[in-house]
Amino acid sequence: MVGKTVIETSGAVKGKVKDVMFDLGGGVAFLVEGDDGKDSQVALSKVTGISEHVVIETEPTKDSGLSGYGMTCKFCGAPKSPEERWCPSCGRSQT
Ligand SMILES: [Zn+2]
Repeated sequence: MVGKTVIETSGAVKGKVKDVMFDLGGGVAFLVEGDDGKDSQVALSKVTGISEHVVIETEPTKDSGLSGYGMTCKFCGAPKSPEERWCPSCGRSQT
């Protein structure tokens, strides 16, 4: 398994399997070394197929703007995460 090329279902090459490890939840994850030399963890649950290459689900791309926050301040419209009880922009309570 180590040394196999990891590709996403979109066809993009993510990197190479550097190690196989167990994550904190007891699941299996691949340590993948990317082309940029940065390691990332890929959970086995993301793997859709293993043959010549390891194929993983394409990660959802985070577009700029509201995604990643999911909510906007009801007063000023600034993006905020649902966990934030006060707007990071105008500071007003969201409850
Ligand atoms: Zn606000």
